[in-house]
Amino acid sequence: MTAQILDGKKVAADVRASIGAEIERLKGRGVTPGLAVVLVGEDPASQVYVRSKEKACQAVGMNSFLHRLPAATEQDRLLELIKQLNAAPAVHGILVQLPLPPQIDADVVLQAIDPAKDVDGFHPFNAGKLMAGLKTFVPCTPRGIMHLLAVYNIPLKGKQAVVIGRSNIVGKPIAHLLLAQHATVTVCHSRTVGLSDITRRADVLVAAVGRPHMVTADMIKPGATVVDVGINRLPEGLVGDVDFEAAKEVAGYITPVPGGVGPLTIAMLLQNTLEAAAV
Ligand code: NDP
Repeated sequence: MTAQILDGKKVAADVRASIGAEIERLKGRGVTPGLAVVLVGEDPASQVYVRSKEKACQAVGMNSFLHRLPAATEQDRLLELIKQLNAAPAVHGILVQLPLPPQIDADVVLQAIDPAKDVDGFHPFNAGKLMAGLKTFVPCTPRGIMHLLAVYNIPLKGKQAVVIGRSNIVGKPIAHLLLAQHATVTVCHSRTVGLSDITRRADVLVAAVGRPHMVTADMIKPGATVVDVGINRLPEGLVGDVDFEAAKEVAGYITPVPGGVGPLTIAMLLQNTLEAAAV
């Protein structure tokens, strides 16, 4: 059996088209959604991400305000900028690109963002609301995964879901979202003992680790849905956390890398910004 590909690129294009139409309607009411992106330093991967976020904003007719700060920026300077962006009426969403240089405490910075403009969903106020099952900004990657699973009608209720990775950005929020859809959720991490035995029970397996090809075909239950969040840069190009070629012969559904979760992440950033502007 060869798995059906969960085509994130196509699903993201559909999301962007409906966002574009909604932005036109908002513009008719005199509101143009605006996303402020703050980039500190010259990390090459961050530069690529920021550029693609800017392009995505422009493509749907959203304003994007890029603030580039030098790597040596002091924390207080960054906090001052965030204060200005919190107060700026044209800015509906604020995103601080991570990682930040070592002299800056990312937790302090993320907590300085107005929760009503926290389109990344990283502020503890919004993370707490997510955990409590309340409406809030859901972090973009987990929101994108849930949308992809919904579009392909992947059943979750009563199913075994296993998440590898427990970061605040991916692992923990996706676990809460799966739980909210009545899956039975197991979260694994670097100290998990017997990882393969756990993953082999998964009807839905989410890999969010950052280790190329760590999920091998023998770790997958036949027919399972496999969501590969990992982005790993190897000399041969981008690869995920899943050994895609072998895994697709076992899984029922699988996301490719690239073209799976990644495009949905940016689409959901636009969706969150649109919703921040539409309130
Ligand atoms: P983090 O490094 O914050 O978290 C990685 C998690 O993997 C940790 O919880 C860690 O456990 C766990 N882990 C590490 N080694 C193992 C192991 N051998 N077995 C089981 N678990 C392990 O990463 P992120 O969550 O931020 O990102 C994960 C991956 O997803 C990265 O490749 C990143 O680039 C990618 N990513 C992709 C996005 C997209 O749009 N497609 C968006 C965001 C991230 P512990 O907590 O014990 O250290």
